[in-house]
Amino acid sequence: MSAARPATPEMFDAVVVGGGPAGATAAADLARGGHAVLLLDRAGRIKPCGGAVPPRLLRDFAIPESLLVARAAAARMVAPSGRTVDMPIAGGFVGMVDRDHFDEWLRARAAAAGAVRRTGVFERLERAADGTALVCYRTPEGAAGCIAARAVIGADGANSAVARAALPQRRAAPFVFAYHEIVSSPRPDSGFDGARCDVVYRGALSPDFYGWVFPHGATTSVGVGSARKGFALRAAVAALRQSAGLADAATLRREGAPLPLRPLACWDNGRDVVLAGDAAGVVAPASGEGIYYAMTAGRLAGEAVAAFCADGDARALRQARRRFMRAHGRVFWILGMMQRFWYSSDRRRERFVAICQDPDVQRLTWEAYMNKELVRARPGAHARIFFKDLAHLCGFVAP
Ligand SMILES: Cc1cc2nc3c(=O)[nH]c(=O)nc-3n(C[C@H](O)[C@H](O)[C@H](O)COP(=O)(O)OP(=O)(O)OC[C@H]3O[C@@H](n4cnc5c(N)ncnc54)[C@H](O)[C@@H]3O)c2cc1C
Repeated sequence: MSAARPATPEMFDAVVVGGGPAGATAAADLARGGHAVLLLDRAGRIKPCGGAVPPRLLRDFAIPESLLVARAAAARMVAPSGRTVDMPIAGGFVGMVDRDHFDEWLRARAAAAGAVRRTGVFERLERAADGTALVCYRTPEGAAGCIAARAVIGADGANSAVARAALPQRRAAPFVFAYHEIVSSPRPDSGFDGARCDVVYRGALSPDFYGWVFPHGATTSVGVGSARKGFALRAAVAALRQSAGLADAATLRREGAPLPLRPLACWDNGRDVVLAGDAAGVVAPASGEGIYYAMTAGRLAGEAVAAFCADGDARALRQARRRFMRAHGRVFWILGMMQRFWYSSDRRRERFVAICQDPDVQRLTWEAYMNKELVRARPGAHARIFFKDLAHLCGFVAP
């Protein structure tokens, strides 16, 4: 199997497979903590992504504002009828990052903290005679190699090869396939608002998710998602571009990828491998937000591996999922319910957009998005929203 393997493979405390937001965060944290870390990334492909991030991400992960290519000051919710509701963001913003620069910056920061970077594709997990994990990979030049690791973090995205190798019994997360086109942004004097995100709810564009127009300065991401096999995503994006006045904008890239919308039931193999980010299924339902959650999961996986390296007790690896679910499980559950209910027909989408007109809904939505906490400070507002939601759910309120 491993003719190319040297008699004594390189040995690290941790090998992190995947240099996206999850893996780069885990590698940087572990290296900062004095661990010997190798970050293996296949490189060469920009992650398809709308690039919207909340302010809390900048705070939690010390991301400089200079990495933002745009800041959205409002979102426009568009109902199936074409009715629009503008949601200005009081005292905050939605940041936009370009994933080619953002991810590379994160990987460079991990290297600056002491992580060894290697370009290569993870191929399989082997075991040394003493049971140590061997992460086997292939370089772009075709050379094969294996690295020994006390622990492995699988942060290699939604189609994680590490998850397949280390947790073959796992039940894969349900996913939406998201597709977007990067186009040149129209000139500001054309009437195009480069500081507003459009979120479009229309069954013809997406029967079970939504469409978006996210300006990134010189470029704009226009995309849709759907879990329905065979749904014509390209035709939907063409229709969305038409309605957003972007039909004639130059197309710079067309790309798509799955969004796994439910955290896996188990992230570790009980021995020495733990998953993080999309590989662990942590993209928020309803919104499709994954970058913040990937970085959080990467951090928790790094902390779990550090604890495991300290005393060799593999039960520490379980803490990554446990701590993530304690912090975000409730929000994921609520968002899952919202997606199933509100995104299921145009009648409901119309109502959903109508609800967004409510100032309480707007304030709590933005606070929850920007700070990633359910707002506890205003029980009165929650109660009002609850009863309004209930009235809409029961059809007592006209759209
Ligand atoms: C079209 C689209 C739009 C989106 N828009 C948003 C948005 O606006 N905001 C938001 O928060 N989230 C968005 N997401 C979700 C977000 O992109 C992901 O949740 C996030 O990138 C997950 O980070 P990650 O590090 O877990 O995985 P990834 O970003 O997928 O990174 C995985 C890394 O692993 C590497 N890799 C993969 N396989 C191997 C292998 N075998 N060997 C070595 N390396 C490997 C890849 O090269 C990559 O660097 C969007 C997703 C899509 C598809």
